Amino acid sequence: MKKFVLIALLFSFLVPLAQNTQKKPGPKKPNTAPSVSQSKQISNNHTQNLVTTLTHDTCLNRKFSIVFYVILDSAGLPGQANPGAIAQFVDTLNNRFRRICVKFESCSTVYISNHSYAEWYRPTTDTIVTSQWHTDKTINIYLVDSIYQNFPYEVQGYTYLPPSSPTVTPKDNIVLEKWQLLVNNCVISLHHIGHFFGLLHTHDEINPGLAAAPPPPPGVASKEYVDGSNCLIHGDGLCDTEADPLGGAVADGKGDFYLKPVDNYMSFSSNSCRFTQQQYNRMAYIMITARRYLH
Ligand SMILES: [Zn+2]
Repeated sequence: MKKFVLIALLFSFLVPLAQNTQKKPGPKKPNTAPSVSQSKQISNNHTQNLVTTLTHDTCLNRKFSIVFYVILDSAGLPGQANPGAIAQFVDTLNNRFRRICVKFESCSTVYISNHSYAEWYRPTTDTIVTSQWHTDKTINIYLVDSIYQNFPYEVQGYTYLPPSSPTVTPKDNIVLEKWQLLVNNCVISLHHIGHFFGLLHTHDEINPGLAAAPPPPPGVASKEYVDGSNCLIHGDGLCDTEADPLGGAVADGKGDFYLKPVDNYMSFSSNSCRFTQQQYNRMAYIMITARRYLH
């Protein structure tokens, strides 16, 4: 019963926020309603409060459909993107997201027989393939042999963050190298699912233009301190992911030793195995707002 009360409470906050993000601008009312920028600020503050203060999961009771597109190799075979591997990946996804009552379903697998696309060159192949093979309002996962893209893009896979406003057309594509689907317990695949639902890297910096005093060591982008005192405004903006310098820096600007979040899916560690509570909260929020249109 207590759980349901908490869920009801959460939705009493989240549902108005979700509606707010889809509101179309209407005629200006002659009252003291907050301006668009004020509303956005209030909305962001509420979101931030919810994401960083909820200490429990919420049950979304949502299902997402996935369509897999497998580029066949020169022998006409799916290689490591065989039906068993895809089923195992979906199982792993469902295991990771069960705690927020989110289920993923593989709707269909489409085989693309032009094997030249298997060597996926992002600047050109992406446009050609995704304009011909794409299912609206589902998660489209393209499984290819190898991905070529230029720095600073990531290797082995890529996707898109949720649209920043209702006027931005969302991109529902995730491109992965086939061998990454299952390796290290799906670590790369889950990393990109995290991005797709709004998570940043643990070493990212949400306010690069805002100074921190003392500053981070040279070469470190994240200004988050190990002691967590500025975790809401620096680093990835989440407080239960440890400050992450990414490179070899040993201590932050205050001299506190980094304890890198090597177990986190959103770090660059290959041994990661978890999302934190606030990361689940953030993804849950995105699932019912910016990614709400998905079937
Ligand atoms: Zn990434």
